[in-house]
Amino acid sequence: MQPKTAGANTASSTRTAMSGNKGITGRCLCGAVSITVAGDHDPRVGACHCRMCQRWTGGLFLCFTAEASAVTVTGEVARYRSSSFAERAFCPRCGSHLWFNDVEEGGEPRRYELMPGLFDAARGWPLRSEIYVDRAMASIQLAGDHRRKTRAEYEAENPFIPGDMEGGLPAT
Ligand SMILES: [Zn+2]
Ligand SMILES: [Zn+2]
Repeated sequence: MQPKTAGANTASSTRTAMSGNKGITGRCLCGAVSITVAGDHDPRVGACHCRMCQRWTGGLFLCFTAEASAVTVTGEVARYRSSSFAERAFCPRCGSHLWFNDVEEGGEPRRYELMPGLFDAARGWPLRSEIYVDRAMASIQLAGDHRRKTRAEYEAENPFIPGDMEGGLPAT
């Protein structure tokens, strides 16, 4: 269940840049965790307004996808199993959110949904898609012509998702 870890390399993790095969590096607020993506990733951002993501992030969940084989994590990471199929990771020291992953029982994640705010390189990336748009807070309305799905549309395509619930209670 542990991601690949590398030796301490905080000197290079404080600056990030898209530079060919060298990849990009991000870090949490306190710097204890750094994440390098060197390989396949989608340089676009997805947004989720589901009730669980609102609680976890405080408002808006943003992520980008990277293949697990491309991701190297350095530093201690805390993981919260937020549902039967997913975990959410954060820095235990400063609380910065790191990723959301689909996880199979006893298996390694196949891909990471990483928080773009950790990476300087992600500042210019466009918004790819937005889900649970009908659950968005009034204060968070995203402009643009990206793909949008309502809760009903998204859950119809992903029937394993337990209906935008948290702690066994419907999130109303
Ligand atoms: Zn931290
Ligand atoms: Zn969500």
